[in-house]
Amino acid sequence: MSTITELQKEISDWADTVFPERTAHGALVKLMTEEIPELCLCPDSAGEFADCVVLLFDIATLNGIDIATAVRDKMAINRQRTWAIDHSTGLMRHVDGHGPAMARHLAKRGLGNTQELSDQEFKELIR
Ligand SMILES: [Mg+2]
Repeated sequence: MSTITELQKEISDWADTVFPERTAHGALVKLMTEEIPELCLCPDSAGEFADCVVLLFDIATLNGIDIATAVRDKMAINRQRTWAIDHSTGLMRHVDGHGPAMARHLAKRGLGNTQELSDQEFKELIR
């Protein structure tokens, strides 16, 4: 079994050999315009999922990002946040930071953050 770090290196080594002239921007455009749409059409396809991960891992390497460290660091932040479904979009969103829907609600009430809401007000906003 490979670690994330080993897999990231394996992918970048392969990409360095096959596409030495590639750029992070080009890989990101390919991910967004070709591979993510393919995954959307076949969300249960392991191959399409892998295509996206390969590009995402390579983009990380090209940008000097250690994926394992970055994900662990971000998960530590995510665990501290409050999450809810934004019913205007149906999407998961953290509601204690800068989520656009929550920011609009707070702005309408003249508030800076969710800490200024009562528990009841907060529950009503995320309902
Ligand atoms: Mg594909």
